[in-house]
Amino acid sequence: FPSDLIRNFSIIAHIDHGKSTLADRLLELTGTIQKLRKGEQQMLDKLKVERERGITVKAQTASMFHNYMSKRYMLNLIDTPGHVDFSWEVARSLAACQGALLLVDASQGVQAQTLSVFHVAKERGLVIVPILNKGSKIDLPAADPELMAAQMHSTFGVDTSEILQISAKTGKGVESVLEAIIDRIPAPRSAMAEGDKRLKAFLFDSSYDRYRGVISLLSVQSGVMQRGDKIQSIATSKRYEVTDLGIMHPEEVPTTSLREGQVGWMVCSMKDSGEAHVGDTLHRVGETIEPMPGLKATKAMVYAGIFPVDSNDFVKLEESIKRLTLTDRSVTVSRESSSALGQGCRLGFLGTLHMDVFRQRLEDEYDANVIITAPTVPYKVIYKDREVYVSNPTNFPDVTNPTSQVKEVQEPVVNASIIVPEQFFGDMMDLLYNHRAEDMDFRYINVSAKDSRLILTAVMPLSEIVTDFFDKLKSRSSGFASFDYEDAGYKASNLAKIVFLVHNKPVDALALIVHRSAEQAVARTWVKKLQKVIPRQLFEVPIQAAVGKKIIARETLSAIRSDVTAGIYGGHYERKLKHIENQKESKKRMKRFGSVDLPQEAFFDILRS
Ligand code: GDP
Ligand code: MG
Repeated sequence: FPSDLIRNFSIIAHIDHGKSTLADRLLELTGTIQKLRKGEQQMLDKLKVERERGITVKAQTASMFHNYMSKRYMLNLIDTPGHVDFSWEVARSLAACQGALLLVDASQGVQAQTLSVFHVAKERGLVIVPILNKGSKIDLPAADPELMAAQMHSTFGVDTSEILQISAKTGKGVESVLEAIIDRIPAPRSAMAEGDKRLKAFLFDSSYDRYRGVISLLSVQSGVMQRGDKIQSIATSKRYEVTDLGIMHPEEVPTTSLREGQVGWMVCSMKDSGEAHVGDTLHRVGETIEPMPGLKATKAMVYAGIFPVDSNDFVKLEESIKRLTLTDRSVTVSRESSSALGQGCRLGFLGTLHMDVFRQRLEDEYDANVIITAPTVPYKVIYKDREVYVSNPTNFPDVTNPTSQVKEVQEPVVNASIIVPEQFFGDMMDLLYNHRAEDMDFRYINVSAKDSRLILTAVMPLSEIVTDFFDKLKSRSSGFASFDYEDAGYKASNLAKIVFLVHNKPVDALALIVHRSAEQAVARTWVKKLQKVIPRQLFEVPIQAAVGKKIIARETLSAIRSDVTAGIYGGHYERKLKHIENQKESKKRMKRFGSVDLPQEAFFDILRS
């Protein structure tokens, strides 16, 4: 396929603005897929969790062909995830494109993520095709296309005459999108000078197949890749032989080659998925080339321990986690053991949604029954002579102890932005304030009689966002606020570790790192929760929360009066035996804390709530 007839593009949009629906229409209109029946699942959202939650987790690509002005074009759609947790995946998908369709829901207008992805696309020099979706009045009565077009003009600097108005749902105007892709987005240009045929391929995604090994998604920047080619990675210098390649149409279709400008899949003699470095550049053995400018590596922002509900299932759980991380390389894994929960794994995620999705996939696809500890962000502990990152509260030092040698503790912070209608300004400021936001600022992005909206910005601790911030934001703005954030480094903070003691023994899996202004409230809530889930014993059990040596909250679990076996003596032997048998059974699932038995289910309950 000659590269002047190729277009590589993405659709960028805030979640729910219709990206997947538009992708389906484009695939239908070009005959790539059969027309979907009403209510049928979207083509590009392949994972079960993605369909259930209506979000795209892993970016997918699809090639389609379209005849226009008596020429046949190859259009490569590179889908991007639509959630802040995955913004890094957005950046890498966009690196393989020359243009992006910027989709805005006409009834909602520009939202926080529309802005952030727009900036990523702009930085990469992509041509932007602005589109208003759900645009016709018949389609959605609340839509106000004129107002929204004016808003897109003021926020993105696009000419209102360039804005396409479509309905992805009904298909109205989607033909004009195909035309704009061909007319406005430039063909991919060779990364090399005229006549230079050296192979240069950019690896932007990879997945693992048990039978075929590592499958990479590539964008060929120059030259041609064919089966049998000997290739080499710039990142690792390792060499491979290309065994199979092709395009996504929308499933994998083998072809004889992948040429300059094309996007497709490739299988080579790479067996270990750890060798497929996203952002890597591949070239032919014996040739030298300049690498593509690298992408920022993923950074885990949220950590949690995962333990099997039944400790006998650890081996199976670890195996499942390993398999799952082969399809999602942004998850980091290490082993962890806890006196309360036994053997488990400590996982690092891009965000809490990412964590939830991973847990759901473990449960859905691997039938795992797991306990997840409270999420924590990576803290930086600065000693006189060294810095240590702590992503497990158990390893957090007791800062109240003068002999701990800790000079300072820092926590990750983010630049947060919220777009919200003016009437919620007060509620939002209040919410931000309660979540330790600093440097708050705001400006209007839209002023009109009908719709005045603001963008609020602030610097916030990441730990404040990984809890229930998002839910609060939605409820306190009646669903109208949208939110996005980006990494803003580390900042010194007054933090401490709360340790919970059951019958004077610390329960490691429950330790928490909190800001000292919140320690009392948090300690009290958790002590109460524990009192509810821990079964009463034959004696009184104190449940306490401590910071360093100081107890800051306490509840007491009262004793059960009579012995459970008391009523059974002297009576039926068989019943007695059965009772002892039952006790043995439940013993297995108990964890002993000094003299207190804690059922694993209690942890499950408390950590789920
Ligand atoms: P994504 O999160 O950007 O991929 O959004 P989806 O494509 O999943 O669409 C979100 C919701 O909006 C779905 O319920 C779609 O059926 C609906 N939707 C998409 N396009 C249109 C449109 O043009 N008109 C109307 N009324 N609804 C639409
Ligand atoms: Mg979608």
